[in-house]
Amino acid sequence: MQRADMLVIGGGIAGLSVAARLAEHGRVVVLEGETAPGYHASGRSVAFAHYGLGNEPVRTLTALSMNALAAHGAVHPALHIASAEQVAELEALEDVHRQFGCDYTRVGSDEACALMPVLRPEACAAALIDHGSLKLDTNAMLQAHAAALRMAGGELITGAQVNAIARDGSNWRVEAAGKVYSAPLLVNAAGAWADVIARLAGVQPIGIEPRRRTVISFAASEGEDVSRWPFTKTVGEGFYLLPEGRGQLLASSMDQTPSEPCDAAAEELDIAIAADRVEQATTLPIRRIAHSWAGLRSFAPDEVPVIGHAADLPGFVWCAGQGGAGFQTAPALSRIAAAAALGLPFPDDCAAAGLAPEMFSPARLGA
Ligand SMILES: Cc1cc2nc3c(=O)[nH]c(=O)nc-3n(C[C@H](O)[C@H](O)[C@H](O)COP(=O)(O)OP(=O)(O)OC[C@H]3O[C@@H](n4cnc5c(N)ncnc54)[C@H](O)[C@@H]3O)c2cc1C
Repeated sequence: MQRADMLVIGGGIAGLSVAARLAEHGRVVVLEGETAPGYHASGRSVAFAHYGLGNEPVRTLTALSMNALAAHGAVHPALHIASAEQVAELEALEDVHRQFGCDYTRVGSDEACALMPVLRPEACAAALIDHGSLKLDTNAMLQAHAAALRMAGGELITGAQVNAIARDGSNWRVEAAGKVYSAPLLVNAAGAWADVIARLAGVQPIGIEPRRRTVISFAASEGEDVSRWPFTKTVGEGFYLLPEGRGQLLASSMDQTPSEPCDAAAEELDIAIAADRVEQATTLPIRRIAHSWAGLRSFAPDEVPVIGHAADLPGFVWCAGQGGAGFQTAPALSRIAAAAALGLPFPDDCAAAGLAPEMFSPARLGA
């Protein structure tokens, strides 16, 4: 049996970011079922940080994370576009940018089309440019947390699919790939499988809902350097589009189809909808989809991450429900999660920004 002070289940951004912080306080072992970290949601994101998604707590976590994210990100503008029917939504988003002190400009259709040359004017009645959003290097983020964990004496064990969890006195006894691990503290950072892990441990699940999102990749016109095109996103239903290197573009129709936890794959219809929405709103011809993928974004019923000890079984710590913002909130959320796990005070800057432990506690969901 391998003993540790803390076991973390899940080697995605949630598990690795909290594990790196916990490792400053004791021996941490991360158990990841796949053969490499970041195989599921964390390996499938489009790696962008902006204010165009989430609710108030998620945006506050984003604001609290932006400085730290800059270490693994490059400033890249986001262009939030609105059709004539979506102008009220753009105004609400402008309020958000004002609230968080963002460097932004409200522009009309002409200026939006000047910045994003393939945009059809009729697809954009009004727009907002966020000059401070970030293109992230998510692989570097994962590797940096894994390195910090190792430097502090912790361990990331891959190929360690957890299949049994039991209480053994004041410890958790966790079985993975024929080995047994034991620790008094167990952190559930299993992404789409967070409720599965809770059930294994005899903890009440909280109703985490995985939702599938599809991304397509295609080449820009021959020889065209699109790397400076903004991340372009409709404020409501529609699509987003962003450059990936010099000549490739990524796009999504922002689908969010409820799914069982699984190795998600892109479906033909979702690929076609993404391509169609881009072609409707831009002059881009999508001749060939170079690549497509899907990943699961996992949400609690109120779409706020779930952080804290289970009410019915202290020592079982939730770190789940990061939704579509797991990378852009990780710097702040991992500090909140580590403090909650260790019983340390809620971080001062998070409290000053209006956040409180109760907002994230599983108790708010009756768990
Ligand atoms: C298409 C798409 C685009 C996105 N774009 C962005 C973006 O631009 N910016 C942003 O901030 N976020 C984005 N996200 C969201 C972000 O990717 C997620 O919020 C984040 O990756 C969730 O991290 P996680 O660690 O909770 O989950 P995961 O990365 O899924 O990690 C959970 C891990 O737990 C492991 N696990 C599960 N069960 C077990 C078990 N029994 N034993 C051992 N291990 C187990 C899994 O193998 C998995 O590796 C996007 C997501 C998708 C799908």
